[in-house]
Amino acid sequence: MNPNLFQCQNRIISSPSRFSGRGGIFFDRDGVIIEEANYLSQVDDLKILGGVIPGLRKLKKLGMPFYLITNQAGIAHGFFTEKQLRIIQSFLVAKLLEAKIKFRAAFYCPHHPQAEMANYRADCFGRKPKPGLLYQAARFDKLNLKHSYIIGDKLTDLEAGKQAGTKTILVLTGYGAEESKKISSNLKPDFIATNINDAADWIIIQEKKRPFNFNRNPTGQNQNHKYGFRLFC
Ligand SMILES: [Mg+2]
Ligand SMILES: [Zn+2]
Repeated sequence: MNPNLFQCQNRIISSPSRFSGRGGIFFDRDGVIIEEANYLSQVDDLKILGGVIPGLRKLKKLGMPFYLITNQAGIAHGFFTEKQLRIIQSFLVAKLLEAKIKFRAAFYCPHHPQAEMANYRADCFGRKPKPGLLYQAARFDKLNLKHSYIIGDKLTDLEAGKQAGTKTILVLTGYGAEESKKISSNLKPDFIATNINDAADWIIIQEKKRPFNFNRNPTGQNQNHKYGFRLFC
């Protein structure tokens, strides 16, 4: 089981982290990695979307760490518990491992401002469109958010990325096709991808274009190493 599942640190991490060096790739979970199941609470309902495995395999070659960044307000609404979320996460991690794909960590926000469950009622800075979970992930691994990407099926995912300074990709899976109709000039994705495979191709092109490639490291030397960072450990 991957132990790197972290709850948001509500109101603790509220300032951007400015680390130099490598970036990461942030993925929303529902409608991006797995089928949108409307408050998924059972592992039986978990299905990895088409294009995810081939896309992640390609991206793995870039050597950038992967993170899940997910709002889980179903917990705040009492639809499922944090324990159930952990079971689903373990199941997803195991499924991805079968395909030799490893996520470095998952960050989730269980809060909602109008939660039925009083202990989860909060206008949390970790809840997208706010960027708290991205800041949290950045601190966890000393990531440079400017060299990072976020992939989501909702404009709120991209808004979080934009606030944090990442590149933004809307995928047309999940709510993506509906959401693409709401694109405005003040929130325009850097790229619109049909699925993760398509998003991967675009990211790989962007990474090749960098004059100095912070994210790729053929020599094995990376400044993140001084913080004890180990990719896919
Ligand atoms: Mg989603
Ligand atoms: Zn939260």
